[in-house]
Amino acid sequence: MLSNVADFSEVDLIACEFCLLEVPLTDALTPETDDYVAHYCGLECYEQWKQQGRDK
Ligand SMILES: [Zn+2]
Repeated sequence: MLSNVADFSEVDLIACEFCLLEVPLTDALTPETDDYVAHYCGLECYEQWKQQGRDK
């Protein structure tokens, strides 16, 4: 049996808040915020999203 192969049918996928790429929830970056939970595929997207939101 290939026990080391992930069963993707049981993986929760979430879309990155910034680039909308779908990544497994376990691999997603989830910064803690006061009132809003967002997921990112990586720190790079989180930083870019932060920069974008700040520029109002
Ligand atoms: Zn992303």
